[in-house]
Amino acid sequence: MELRARTCEILRDLIAFPTLSSDSNQVLIAYAAGLLEDCGARVDLSSSPCGAKANLFATLGPEVDGGILLSGHSDVVPVTDQDWSSDPFVMEERDGRLYGRGTCDMKGFIAACLAMAPTYAAQVSTRPMHFAFTYDEEIGCFGAQHLATDLRARGLTPGVAIIGEPTEMRVIEGHKGCYEYSTHFHGLEGHGSAPDLGVNAVEYAVRYVAELLQLKQRLRDMAPAGGRFEPPWTTVNVGALQGGVAHNVIASKAQVDWEMRPVTARDADFVKTALRQLCEEDLLPAMRQIHPDAGITLETIGEVAGLEPMAENEARQIMLELTGANGADLVAFGTEAGIFQALGMNVVVCGPGSIAQAHKADEYLALDQLEQCLTVLQRLGRHL
Ligand SMILES: [Zn+2]
Repeated sequence: MELRARTCEILRDLIAFPTLSSDSNQVLIAYAAGLLEDCGARVDLSSSPCGAKANLFATLGPEVDGGILLSGHSDVVPVTDQDWSSDPFVMEERDGRLYGRGTCDMKGFIAACLAMAPTYAAQVSTRPMHFAFTYDEEIGCFGAQHLATDLRARGLTPGVAIIGEPTEMRVIEGHKGCYEYSTHFHGLEGHGSAPDLGVNAVEYAVRYVAELLQLKQRLRDMAPAGGRFEPPWTTVNVGALQGGVAHNVIASKAQVDWEMRPVTARDADFVKTALRQLCEEDLLPAMRQIHPDAGITLETIGEVAGLEPMAENEARQIMLELTGANGADLVAFGTEAGIFQALGMNVVVCGPGSIAQAHKADEYLALDQLEQCLTVLQRLGRHL
């Protein structure tokens, strides 16, 4: 069967698996594993801690470092409260577009990889080709973090990773990280008329927020020279501040929801170290002087590493050559790419479809985008 038709056939099957992040992705993973095993790949499945989901890691060729990794997440975002023109889980072709939940984000890329697998199987010799399909990207990149642990344990580092998130086949070499936290303050309640007998959680939360605001300013001055991010520095946002119950009661609880979008992992460490110091050396001793059980806990909602643009990047070099693009760009959205970069791989994000169509009603993948992706994946075979 012709490559494009085969890709569409696979994509139709992938769309029919409603792999919402809240549900199991195992049927999709088993389906992909079957196709990869059929062309001789060694396939490893690794279950999520809850047991309902799995990552797939497959290899064509020798089990050595330096291979090429094609990676995509298998989960999709919900369709709740979205007004779709057709069933989101039945792929439909209209006006040169393939409609369905996950067509561009990012089952189109996964379908293209699976359709190319038999070709790669015939091409591989010394340099392996790997496939990684993960779970739970949309809710915090948990699958990719799990995969990274597995790869580390196995001692295997692919040389190049291509993350097929929708970039309209532009080569993306960087995006900021996204780190989200809730900091909880536990004090001691009491009567408003005797503030010294209680520990006012709101007051400590405010001092914490004041420190965050100072850090926010300092990060501006730390922006790397020639940075291309918009804005070029690490940003901090205090999104929500809650605490207390009434005018005349010492607040026993407070919560600060905040995030930072680091341009380098160093900035994230800088912020976390400064906050830890503030808590350990300043806030906690004062709180515990009154009430030994008072405390501050930092709850990590998610830490999705950024993709730092690198001077040397073989993935960029290969993909610029294959796509014919003049240069690589940056994007504002986060991906799993930084997790693979942290393992020592050269990484770019490059995939079919547009992020503008992702997560929306009537999500679609334009057929010409899929065509472009297949052309690039065919050319990629030369590097095996
Ligand atoms: Zn995605």
